[in-house]
Amino acid sequence: MVININRDFCKGCGFCITFCPKKVYERSGELNKKGYEPPKAARPEDCSECGMCDLYCPEFAIVLEKKSA
Ligand code: SF4
Ligand code: SF4
Repeated sequence: MVININRDFCKGCGFCITFCPKKVYERSGELNKKGYEPPKAARPEDCSECGMCDLYCPEFAIVLEKKSA
């Protein structure tokens, strides 16, 4: 799975960090254009492709892309 984060859509709610069952995300420590702190995908190799982050992000900032085989 390729995890695309549109950093400037993010409102820094932290849902992705909280709800990812594999703890893929961490705080990035950086601010986006709106002054919010977007997450970073710190452990993308642990992703189980459950789709929760894409589903729960209220700002549609996370877009998952299946890797082509
Ligand atoms: S798809 Fe699931 S496991 Fe993968 S990063 Fe999103 S919430 Fe975490
Ligand atoms: S769920 Fe979306 S808006 Fe909330 S911190 Fe994660 S990327 Fe940002």
